[in-house]
Amino acid sequence: MSQDQVSRDRGSTLVSGIGELVTNDPSLGAGVLGVVPDGAVVVADGRVAWVGAASAAPDADRRIDLGGRAVLPGFVDSHSHLVFAGDRAGEFEARMSGTPYDGGGIASTVQATREASDDDLRARLRTLVAEMRAQGTTTVEIKSGYGLTVEQEARALRLAGEVTVETTFLGAHVVPPEYAGRTEDYLALVTGPMLAACAPYARWIDVFCEPASPHAFDGAASRAVLEAGRDAGLGLRVHANQLSAGPGVQLAVELGAASADHCTHLSPADVDALTGGATVVTLLPGVEFSTRSPYPDARRLLDAGVTVALASDCNPGSCFTSSIPFCIALAVREMGMTPAEAAWAATAGGAAALRRTDIGHLGVGARADLLVLDAPSHRHLAYRPGIPLARPLVLPPASAPRRIGT
Ligand SMILES: [Zn+2]
Repeated sequence: MSQDQVSRDRGSTLVSGIGELVTNDPSLGAGVLGVVPDGAVVVADGRVAWVGAASAAPDADRRIDLGGRAVLPGFVDSHSHLVFAGDRAGEFEARMSGTPYDGGGIASTVQATREASDDDLRARLRTLVAEMRAQGTTTVEIKSGYGLTVEQEARALRLAGEVTVETTFLGAHVVPPEYAGRTEDYLALVTGPMLAACAPYARWIDVFCEPASPHAFDGAASRAVLEAGRDAGLGLRVHANQLSAGPGVQLAVELGAASADHCTHLSPADVDALTGGATVVTLLPGVEFSTRSPYPDARRLLDAGVTVALASDCNPGSCFTSSIPFCIALAVREMGMTPAEAAWAATAGGAAALRRTDIGHLGVGARADLLVLDAPSHRHLAYRPGIPLARPLVLPPASAPRRIGT
């Protein structure tokens, strides 16, 4: 878009005073983050219409001056479980006293969720999404998986679809109590009537592939779930290698899954399989924090050239944080990622894990999901843990005054 076109667009907004603009586009600025010092962005019709140095910025209909703050693309949280009822703070307390996590507590959330009304689930879901957004998350993927009946899973996805297009069918989360000892029967339900009822509301299918958990699914069962989902037109995601170096990663790569999530325990063959492939590894360090488990080795994956995303895994059991800045701080402090790698993973990495090209960067044409930090640099996300620095940039309505400070 030319300068003339931008200035003629009555709905355009020039965002300037950006001390450090992270574009995630190396053609626009320095390093993998494509950093533009003293940058500016013009937004029109909800998209980035121009991006570059403030000194070269075109005029626009309105202006916002951010007073030297840093701007990044909004966080893309590519892994969460937000449709649920109940509370598992007691389970967390027990874990902190030494009780290991094996996925068994999911059943208590399933019971509470089944008993909850649509309005109760919707209110909790919207509260959590608002909590995420207030911390800079502008795209979120949401899984079902606490209903585990045909009607309940479809309900969860219908509710999730009210707040995001990134909905994931996770009927194969755990085997519900009424199917104890009858995993084959439950698999037939998941890959048959449940999938048929849920596919219209889902973009993705996921499976908790974890032979080390007595509640989750082995490699053969996971393959059956993923192949059925693929045949129904859904994209593939896998809860892989969380508790042990199981078959999840190899399965994800073989079947062309968009993302293998967790990847806490990887064999050398797993890393080889991921190297150079199209499957993103989504790391979820809030889980290791909240289950007091060893963190995944992000450095090993990055050094091998694997694309890494960071996400929250926000859920009531193994990790009840919705804060991507907290996950970034953990990734830098505990997993060997640089602040730049962690910022990239939580934005462009998340977009890659969702196979989206319109988010996770601030090149021309990208969705205008701008995140503002009350700080001069992305480094502060890890440097100042626990401080609410990140927020989405809310553009003024068309009737707002021409110049607005912050
Ligand atoms: Zn999960």
